[in-house]
Amino acid sequence: MSTKNPDRVVIVGGGTAGWMTASYLKKAFGDKISVTLVESGKIGTIGVGEATFSDIRHFFEFLDLKEEEWMPACNATYKLAVRFQDWRRKGHHFYHPFEQMPTVNGFPLTDWWLQDGPTDRFDTDCFVMANLCDAGRSPRFLDGSLIDQGFAEGAKELSGLTMSEHQGKTQFPYAYHFEAALLAKYLTKYSTDRGVHHIIDEVQDVRLDERGWIDHIVTKDHGSLEGDLFVDCTGFRGVLLNKALEVPFISYQDTLPNDSAVALQVPLDMEKRGINPYTQATAQDAGWIWTIPLFGRIGTGYVYAKDYLSPEEAERTLREFVGPEAAEVEANHIRMRIGRSEQSWKNNCVAIGLASGFVEPLESTGIFFIHHAIEQMVKHFPAADWSPELRKSYNSSIANVMDGVREFLVLHYQGAGRDDTQYWKDTKTRAVPDGLAERLERWKVQLPDSENVFPYYHGLPPYSYMCILLGTGAIPARATPSLGMSDTAAAHKEFAAIRDKSRHLIETLPSTYEYFASMRERS
Ligand code: FAD
Repeated sequence: MSTKNPDRVVIVGGGTAGWMTASYLKKAFGDKISVTLVESGKIGTIGVGEATFSDIRHFFEFLDLKEEEWMPACNATYKLAVRFQDWRRKGHHFYHPFEQMPTVNGFPLTDWWLQDGPTDRFDTDCFVMANLCDAGRSPRFLDGSLIDQGFAEGAKELSGLTMSEHQGKTQFPYAYHFEAALLAKYLTKYSTDRGVHHIIDEVQDVRLDERGWIDHIVTKDHGSLEGDLFVDCTGFRGVLLNKALEVPFISYQDTLPNDSAVALQVPLDMEKRGINPYTQATAQDAGWIWTIPLFGRIGTGYVYAKDYLSPEEAERTLREFVGPEAAEVEANHIRMRIGRSEQSWKNNCVAIGLASGFVEPLESTGIFFIHHAIEQMVKHFPAADWSPELRKSYNSSIANVMDGVREFLVLHYQGAGRDDTQYWKDTKTRAVPDGLAERLERWKVQLPDSENVFPYYHGLPPYSYMCILLGTGAIPARATPSLGMSDTAAAHKEFAAIRDKSRHLIETLPSTYEYFASMRERS
């Protein structure tokens, strides 16, 4: 075994995963490592993946990138929530916002809402951000200052923590939407300016040594490339980890059957139309349609199960949903590999992005998985002894995040009130992941809390579960019995404070479009 510290990293793949990894590693380790990124000029990137989690801000902060610098270059906008449209029944909507749940006398406000809520909207009663979403407001004023929502922007004691260390301490009030291709371009420049070696070529072979570790990769035009650590960012192909190292893939399809998508990128006059500050997921007969508003276009797509719908029907439905603006736009049909690799790090190969695993994008978790994996890779970066314990720890962290998100997504389908097509009827008879059935029973009498949700870090705090449970509607939820014997005055004071604060902010904040138009003038 080599006694040298592994300091030559070779990344294969130039999609969001490849370039996020290259830029982060260079920022983390500078000239202590060499980074080479090889991407095919012929095999395209997936071309979707434009909505994120609020924790993504730590990625940009880590790279020292200011919103004014990178957002206009990537046609980026703010995302305050996911809006679920028609999941309970047609015409109904609710938000899953980025906002910590207020607590009153030790109970979450949603619990008080179940006991004695002022209206039938748990989201607008309990969260300021849901009201800002309904009103299409930006979370920042025109001078760039941020609304005060009980979080600490740039708080010294929190900066430098990984995402998992942040959870529960802070909830930043928004995430981003951005054009995936433009972000990859932006990060390409960021990385190559800092010394990442960029090769456009195809990897045709992966050569292993006698121990089964990657010795080198063989490219079509640039010959052999050697490295110490190889990062597989080749998307669903999994060229290094799944193909060369034969790591099995664990499918989630028994619990999450959507395996296909059709996507459109539709240019629109956003000044006229406005920019909604949320990602929308609109339930359909055999799946759901995402709508992601960017500065200048929307990204949209129908995620469906091919057992219930043909690609042609899905495309027709999507085009009808968007309207005449989509007529000339070419559709991108995608087969999705749902699940995760048994191990994401084997020997000297770590897979990040779609090559590691993926679940349908209902809660925009793809880029979150990438960000989490990169943070964990830095945390578990090997020394000369390549301790297997580090890889074991990395693999369990990745598996927990993906398995936890799977549970959360299954809750959306178990909870959905829709039962008007076979697809929605079948959501109630399908298998659920181990442990979830028991948790679902518990949540009927006790709202989700840190003691009774999936027990390992997976990016979703208990309030997220409350939102989906109360919003989708099929699983009965009730207030903690003791609240029936408690004075609700303090809770009503909190509901009134949320109402007043929302009203004031709606009156004073600019619309999302106005904010980004002015940001462009400023930058
Ligand atoms: P890709 O984009 O597929 O890139 C693969 C790269 O590998 C390419 O550069 C290709 O050229 C290269 N490559 C492949 N084979 C070779 C070879 N032999 N030699 C050299 N290079 C090679 N995530 C979110 O966070 N939010 C969302 O809203 C969201 N929506 C999604 C919607 C859909 C329908 C899908 C399928 C995914 C979505 N995702 C979303 C996930 C997100 O798109 C991905 O996580 C993200 O784009 C990363 O992809 P990637 O870089 O792993 O793979």
